Amino acid sequence: PKETLKPSREVKTVCPYCGVGCNIHLGVRGDQVINVRGDIDNSVNKGNLCVKGRYGYKFINHPDRLSKPIIKRNNTFEEVEWEQALDYVVERFSEYKSNEFAAISSARCLNEDNYAVQKFTRAVMGTNNVDNCARSCHAPSVAGLAKIFGSGAMSNSIDEIKDSACLFVIGTNPTASYPVIGLRIIEAVKNGAKLIVADPRNIDLCKHANIVLNQIPGTDVALLSGIMKIIIDEGLQDENFIKERCENYDEFKESLKEYDLDTVEVITGINREIIIEAAKLYATTKPASILYSLGITEHTHGTENVFALGNLALLTGNMGKPSSGVNPIRGQNNVQGACDMGCLPDVFPGYQKVEDPETIIHFEDAWGVELTNSTGLKFPEMLESAKNGDIKAMYIVGENPVTSEPDTDNIKNSLQNLEFLVVQDIFLSETAQMADVVLPGCSFAEKDGTFANSERRIQRVRSAINPIGESKPDWLITCEIAQRFGAEGFEYNNASEIYKEIAEIAPIFSGINYQRIDKEGIQWPCNDVNDMGTPILHTETFKTENGRGKFIPLKYRPSAELPDEEYPLILTTGRNIYHYQTSTMTGVVDGLKKLYGEDYIEMCSDDANKIGVEHGEKVKVISRRGEIEPKVRVTDSCLSGVVFMTFHFSESATNIITSAALDPISKTPEFKVCAVRVEKIKG
Ligand code: SF4
Repeated sequence: PKETLKPSREVKTVCPYCGVGCNIHLGVRGDQVINVRGDIDNSVNKGNLCVKGRYGYKFINHPDRLSKPIIKRNNTFEEVEWEQALDYVVERFSEYKSNEFAAISSARCLNEDNYAVQKFTRAVMGTNNVDNCARSCHAPSVAGLAKIFGSGAMSNSIDEIKDSACLFVIGTNPTASYPVIGLRIIEAVKNGAKLIVADPRNIDLCKHANIVLNQIPGTDVALLSGIMKIIIDEGLQDENFIKERCENYDEFKESLKEYDLDTVEVITGINREIIIEAAKLYATTKPASILYSLGITEHTHGTENVFALGNLALLTGNMGKPSSGVNPIRGQNNVQGACDMGCLPDVFPGYQKVEDPETIIHFEDAWGVELTNSTGLKFPEMLESAKNGDIKAMYIVGENPVTSEPDTDNIKNSLQNLEFLVVQDIFLSETAQMADVVLPGCSFAEKDGTFANSERRIQRVRSAINPIGESKPDWLITCEIAQRFGAEGFEYNNASEIYKEIAEIAPIFSGINYQRIDKEGIQWPCNDVNDMGTPILHTETFKTENGRGKFIPLKYRPSAELPDEEYPLILTTGRNIYHYQTSTMTGVVDGLKKLYGEDYIEMCSDDANKIGVEHGEKVKVISRRGEIEPKVRVTDSCLSGVVFMTFHFSESATNIITSAALDPISKTPEFKVCAVRVEKIKG
């Protein structure tokens, strides 16, 4: 139906794209979603939507949606009935020992879907080998913020941005990746907030900034340590806050000695006067809020970058107060929820540690099975183990690692080495094409349940149309597999029954049920049904063992791969406003593809002139791992020596050339820095 037709009904739900979690109304005629409008009556987006949320819905009824299960035989996919597919999955999964199995859950799926995947992996397959794509993005936030503050989530709320006096935006491009938050930042500036932007590129937000810090990619620890040293040297630290609420300050202060301005200038490439100005502005303009995302985390020192931001907020007392804090903005609609639900190898739902004996007893009692207390494998470790033949079977739900993860050939080798791969998705993604069995899940528009947005807000997702073809809600597929194993505790009639179990089993969600979040979501922790939730974390104490915020001493470590004569440019990757991740959803929306239909390499005119290439010309981009041939975009947003690419399309396959070097703590890959050479294509 044309968009000029009026919907016959509207269903309120949540945008399926980024972690802002905008509330939307899906306009429906029959079983077709024909338009989307923003919901004005909620605190998250107040009616605003970006281009993806407003126009990116045509994937829902797209003819390429998977509508029946598929089994691969003799390298050919064959549609089969559900009975046959599920029996085959169970028969094959049963062949493997616990430590030979691993599951990847989905940041695009519901909390209830994610809960089912981790419960199946733990209670039926007997392993904690379960992870989600947060490993490739915000795992350093979870690890870093948990160590400093005791909780690895956004400390404050999206609606508080407008009242901040100072916004320090670092390693994030909100107007492209989280546009409605970008809008809030611009609104805050219009209201008089000071804005500091730190980014290796001149992103759009720089136009609104009081101070712009263009650090060399990968030098954030040096930049932030330099800023903190200036704050202490100038006596601008919050002594009372440090004394009353923090620990380890002296050791931390000692670690800053090496960050004199000469050193910081050389490492970061930023003039000292600008660094001093930024330090003074942030320390003296309160409340100040730090907003960051993958420009901070996707490094071999991503967790250390997060430590640095935590230290900075503690040093200036910008924690536990309205419009302040340290705020990781989540990239995917439910990446917060996938972590909350325990799709991580070291925690059960609600961040209850698998190594804690009392937690094990708690979950064994609840689920009626014996559980293992050994921490499972992280996503990159699973892939490495698959390559070595230790992991033999995988269940990947709603993720496309072949296109999303670094060093594509390496990923493909690992997946090819598996004996049995099941992929559950809504399209035949590049990863699904490698599977032995593909199970058709439902999109958000066909499912009831919940998502958790960046600010820890659990929001209702409502089904607007019937499942496409024979596709099923993801939680139902996982539960049907579990039941075929003879497992008990998977007999849910609907998603609400799963959420009830989540609330019973994980104290931080105890006060949340579908009735309470019918109109507006609630932010966890929410410990009982009279609790209104927690918009601001750490107001009285931190969630650490002794309740104090912990300063972490810092040492700058350069990125794993630096430019040299052979590969003289730094490639950094990111997103474009029109597309989402590997574009399995946005890539089938004609309008969005017309606006941005391929991954370009962006570079400044100086670099383009040096190589002798022009805007629009196809070039070779070569790294130690391979080469690709995108077109050049000459742009002022890139500075000399740094080139930029998005990773949305499998055709250009940006991740063929990115580096798989990992942060040793979180095992997050260094997507943001790798050395490349750009060559003119001759002839
Ligand atoms: Fe959807 Fe994010 Fe855009 Fe909001 S900002 S409409 S959640 S993609």
